[in-house]
Amino acid sequence: MNISSLLRRSAQLFPDRPALLHGARVLHDYRQLAARVAALAAFLRERCAVAPGDRVAIYSANGPQYLEAQHAIHWCGAVTVPVNYKLHARELAYVLQDSGARVLCTSPTLHDAARQACAAGERVLVLGSAEWEQAAHGTPMALHDAAPEDVAWLFYTSGTTGRPKGVMLTQRNLLAMTMAYFTDVDEVAAGDAMVYAAPMSHGAGLYNYAHLLRGARHVVPESGGFDPAELADLAARIGHLTLFAAPTMVHRLVAHLQRAGGDGSGFKTIVYGGGPMYVEDLRRAMDVMGQKFVQIYGQGESPMTITALAREQLMATDHPRWTDRIASVGVAHACVQVRVADAEDRDVPTGELGEVLVRGETVMAGYWNKPEATAQTLRGGWLHTGDIGSLDADGFLTLRDRSKDVIISGGSNIYPREVEEVLLLHPRVSEVAVVGERDADWGEIVVAFLVAEGEPVPDAELDALCLSHIARFKRPKHYRWLPSLPKNAYGKVLRREMKRLHSPS
Ligand code: AMP
Repeated sequence: MNISSLLRRSAQLFPDRPALLHGARVLHDYRQLAARVAALAAFLRERCAVAPGDRVAIYSANGPQYLEAQHAIHWCGAVTVPVNYKLHARELAYVLQDSGARVLCTSPTLHDAARQACAAGERVLVLGSAEWEQAAHGTPMALHDAAPEDVAWLFYTSGTTGRPKGVMLTQRNLLAMTMAYFTDVDEVAAGDAMVYAAPMSHGAGLYNYAHLLRGARHVVPESGGFDPAELADLAARIGHLTLFAAPTMVHRLVAHLQRAGGDGSGFKTIVYGGGPMYVEDLRRAMDVMGQKFVQIYGQGESPMTITALAREQLMATDHPRWTDRIASVGVAHACVQVRVADAEDRDVPTGELGEVLVRGETVMAGYWNKPEATAQTLRGGWLHTGDIGSLDADGFLTLRDRSKDVIISGGSNIYPREVEEVLLLHPRVSEVAVVGERDADWGEIVVAFLVAEGEPVPDAELDALCLSHIARFKRPKHYRWLPSLPKNAYGKVLRREMKRLHSPS
């Protein structure tokens, strides 16, 4: 089944409902959106010679035509290759070459970079250009009838280490992920609106399908990105907004609302994930905005869908293990199995740390043209996430860190997250990332990079805070203050980059 059949279905059931908005302005209803997508698909097929299974890349910041491009590619049976628009032309060139994309859709501001990257004569289409508009008004084609195992989405992992790999997500994966939204994240009503403030090339873009299925609105902010003031304003004007946000975005949105005296009442749901949410930040967010939060844990290889921490669980403040639960990433989504295993893939006892393994309908088919990496990551039929965590007796998973981020100092394992949680208790610490630095005596030492809210805090005060919460050997040996932490386009802290830039070599 072609995932774009969800669009066709909604166009039949709710043709007049507003579908696509730019800011608060309605651009198209469902009938128009489906007609444009089907015409753009015909253009790809006939004018750009895109056959079913061919790859078509999108290299664009968020914009209303992003959704059109995404669905036009699905509609004609091709494979969407979403590319992080913050990548350099050279990195884009790598993705184009590796995926063998024949056509590249880009936004006007990225046109030059896109041209530079197209070494193999790829056709470049500019979203929203006169050519695009003309194509959107052309003769539509019938929806391509895809098979469940056909690849629909080729997502290049963020590549914070090594070369990115293309994760092959099939039609079945995308459909399962969509259904998992309803079972474990949230219900969607007709009047709801999904707002795309996080990059559509990543998780936010994947949340369109659930909203499409229910005939809800899709809102692309005019800024094309995350601007807390703009979002708060949109929420007030449009209402019933659902936002997918990295924890750092939630942090900034809440800080804005606190400054502006707002409570974010126009938001219906905020789904957060993609990185650790610190307990202090979450408490503050719930104090300011009320109970609108749901957490998801996923990765490109099992998109948006490994575990979820439901609204009800976050609300159950009188539960005896509430504090532990809100620090967890919740329980396995209904459509997947999650276990925690040792290096030989044997289950570890409840409460003990191991690697998180996942099996189920959302797990990728493999890496594009990388049979060895595929066999290694999917060995034994389980996705090896590279994340370290533990399961409690009720099935709640608590993540520690990526295995590669664990600091080994004097032979002891130190999980950065644990130290970060403590440092964030200080009211003048706004953001923090803890890393290991090479050390002749200890192997590695713990170093904290911090962003201040106001004046930096003296080392002695932070030392005292750490000593009152965690073992002495976990206390950072150095505190380094930065104006901001380096992050990738998805809001993830680039630990290696930070170490490279700010640590003495
Ligand atoms: P990506 O494949 O770029 O989406 O990155 C996925 C990785 O982000 C996961 O393997 C985790 O390490 C991390 N991650 C995703 N969701 C969460 C979460 N809710 N809490 C902590 N880390 C997360």
